[in-house]
Amino acid sequence: MPVIFVGHGGPMNALRDNAFTRHLRAWGAALPRPRAIVSVSAHWLTPGATRVDVQAQPPTIHDFSGFPRELHEMQYRAPGSPSMAAATAALLAGHGATHASDWGLDHGTWTVLHHMFPKADVPVFQVSIDYAKPGAYHYQVGQRLAELRARGVLVMGSGNIVHNLRATQRGVPEGATAATEWAHAFDNAVRSALEARDDRALVDYTRLDASASMAVPTPDHYWPMLYALGAAGAKETPRSVYASFQSGTVSMRCLQFG
Ligand code: ZN
Repeated sequence: MPVIFVGHGGPMNALRDNAFTRHLRAWGAALPRPRAIVSVSAHWLTPGATRVDVQAQPPTIHDFSGFPRELHEMQYRAPGSPSMAAATAALLAGHGATHASDWGLDHGTWTVLHHMFPKADVPVFQVSIDYAKPGAYHYQVGQRLAELRARGVLVMGSGNIVHNLRATQRGVPEGATAATEWAHAFDNAVRSALEARDDRALVDYTRLDASASMAVPTPDHYWPMLYALGAAGAKETPRSVYASFQSGTVSMRCLQFG
């Protein structure tokens, strides 16, 4: 089973028919059908612990405010996979992973799976991000998740390689180029390091390029990419299956390994 990283952007993508969401639909249709999906989303941060959601029916979480009612009412009713989630927690026992039943599917997960797997018939469960830990930890957890691939599980990281909410440019149409030099520079530096599989540089991203402090002011949306990178085989070079910028500076780059 491949490993993917999805640049998710704003939650309104769930409702939109645009170049990005059309890509997600085609991508989901082209992937082998997974037995389950494990999602590591930028929006489940649990400082001090790594948690695995084991619920049979994970609720759709509307972890945002101020959007149209239609978005707040959307539901993604994929089942969970308590057995695979429990097996995942066991795989991560060395990282102190614990079971959770107080999460579900946050918008980093459901707004993209709504397009990729619109029938919501593939079981989905989330693994949280221990936000107290450095990049190497997230990469190592990803390496542990690699074992799930042979069991037919699609490992998905969902974040954004460049994500600075204080520097988005509202109303700027989606495009191939960034509205600022730093957004372009960091996205490009990550792309180059991915092509070279310079994993060490990607883990220690603050030294990757001078643009890092603007592109990744907080690592929440960057860390999910390291889970995908860790789950990839050492010789699997990712393909950028989609690349663009939304709101001027948010990198929508999506990756597939394998
Ligand atoms: Zn997000």
